[in-house]
Amino acid sequence: MRFVVIFLTFLLLAESAWAAVEIAPRGKSPVRLDDVYQQRGVPYIAIEDAIDTVGLKGHWNSVRHTFRIRTRRGWAELSPASGYLKLNSDYYPLKDKPRFIDGRLRVTDSFVLNQLPMLVGKPVYFRNLDPNTDTLVEDEGGPIDQLFAFLLNKKPTRKGPLIRAVAIDPGHGGLDTGALAPSGFKEKQVNLAVAEKLAKQLKMKLGTPIYLSRDGDYELTIKQRLETASRDDVDLWLLLHAQASLSAGPSGVNLLIRPEEAAQEQQSGRAQKESNSLKLANQLALALRSAGVAVNGIYPSPLLSLGRGDLPTVQVELGYLSHPEELARLEDDHYQDRLAQALYQGVRQYAELQKETTR
Ligand SMILES: [Zn+2]
Repeated sequence: MRFVVIFLTFLLLAESAWAAVEIAPRGKSPVRLDDVYQQRGVPYIAIEDAIDTVGLKGHWNSVRHTFRIRTRRGWAELSPASGYLKLNSDYYPLKDKPRFIDGRLRVTDSFVLNQLPMLVGKPVYFRNLDPNTDTLVEDEGGPIDQLFAFLLNKKPTRKGPLIRAVAIDPGHGGLDTGALAPSGFKEKQVNLAVAEKLAKQLKMKLGTPIYLSRDGDYELTIKQRLETASRDDVDLWLLLHAQASLSAGPSGVNLLIRPEEAAQEQQSGRAQKESNSLKLANQLALALRSAGVAVNGIYPSPLLSLGRGDLPTVQVELGYLSHPEELARLEDDHYQDRLAQALYQGVRQYAELQKETTR
């Protein structure tokens, strides 16, 4: 029975996979790649993964700052932010410039379809298995934002150095299911689904390293959860949970922060300095509400006295599995996307606020 449950959980998790593509040289069976970032409908595939599917080898040359690929026709070279593929002494224009995303140099579908066949000497099959993942991407700032960024002599806010890395803790896992819905849906599932979606948004749009305490359905010790959050570059910690109540009544998101920081909220009428956790929780609440998600409020949680005392930390209770309509939403992939997108917006607004106050 346990195996059946684990298998079903796996199926449910597999269904909400990231953007994925298939690549193969003609006549070979396609290889599925899951480490794919999609921005504005364009899939970005790690160059190592792309060439590996067609049997080519390559490596990053840190001195030349290029990725070199060994081909039958000689060495091919790609550089981040360069619009050309160099093969021997010839230059071939690229539709999309290779970019570093999540620590890997990535090329787009256009490279796979147009340049890869040239390198491998045969046609290459390509299929985007998830062409619509990108529907939630919002504008990163038009020409006006860029103009302002220039006039103020400040870099565009996309790579906010005030958040070097984010730790995300999807609550529960494995035999520890967390709250249970009457339908059999488990809290650990929605926690992980939203955590992975949020991690992707943050990596893709802020270029921030993300540490997930778990990336699958397994149990963790408290020490393991804390280890993720106590890494040196972590500037923000989000814990994702969902609730169940004995009655079907309660619904909506609750945001939890450390009691000593929540106490500052009550005194916020005075000149008391707001803690960063409270600021973060406020931004998350704003972003969730503007995404149409009901937020009940920000509350103290004694359990959050864990970890570094001043690490900005918010536990997000994503909703109530005991509320029939909210349960249906929490089980829904699109609603999970909406939650992740809103949490991403909250983190981003918090980062921008931090930037302004420390200038
Ligand atoms: Zn929980």
